[in-house]
Amino acid sequence: MTLSNGLSPFLTFVNPETLQIQPNTSGYKKYFRELSGIYADETAFHGLAETFGNAVAYRVDEARFSDQASDLITGISVLEPGKVGQEFFMTRGHLHQRADRPETYYCLAGHGILLLESLAGEIKAMEMRPGSLVYVPPFWLHRSVNVGETVFATLFSYPADAGQDFEIVRQAKGFRQLVVSNANGGWTLAPNPHYRPRTAEEIRVYVARTQS
Ligand code: ZN
Repeated sequence: MTLSNGLSPFLTFVNPETLQIQPNTSGYKKYFRELSGIYADETAFHGLAETFGNAVAYRVDEARFSDQASDLITGISVLEPGKVGQEFFMTRGHLHQRADRPETYYCLAGHGILLLESLAGEIKAMEMRPGSLVYVPPFWLHRSVNVGETVFATLFSYPADAGQDFEIVRQAKGFRQLVVSNANGGWTLAPNPHYRPRTAEEIRVYVARTQS
């Protein structure tokens, strides 16, 4: 073992105007058409996708240096505003592949919900505005939801060996609750009619996977 692990200090700039990390080490864009299947109202999704399929739904900039357990990844997520039917725009959501890894999210801009769900299906909707900080404990699924009229941007940081499991969300047909608009123009939670709870055996396997 060396004292430095070969990693170098890195100074960068979180641009408050463009909401980019400049410079960054990596990143990606998620296009609206790639989000097929995540919204409860499939008909509304396909209607929107015909017009807006090639628009960017969200983007991520990262400062990522290794996948070592002792390292950290920091990044920015910028999620566009909008709705699919009554459901607000959101990210796919994930559990960490190593599910015992936590994460923090700090709101840079906009108005959003960090929607958290335990493996057993308990939901916590953490409402965020600039300055809000949310701690996502180990073993909680998480997704960002934009309930505002401008972009919802968060700065996040998590252990570099955590990885992301998106399949767990697909298998459950989403999260147990949807974030939808209410009659007053605000947001509320509504039961997801397609939700499939995880069995005790499935939960045992997700927990055991962290030991590998
Ligand atoms: Zn995460």
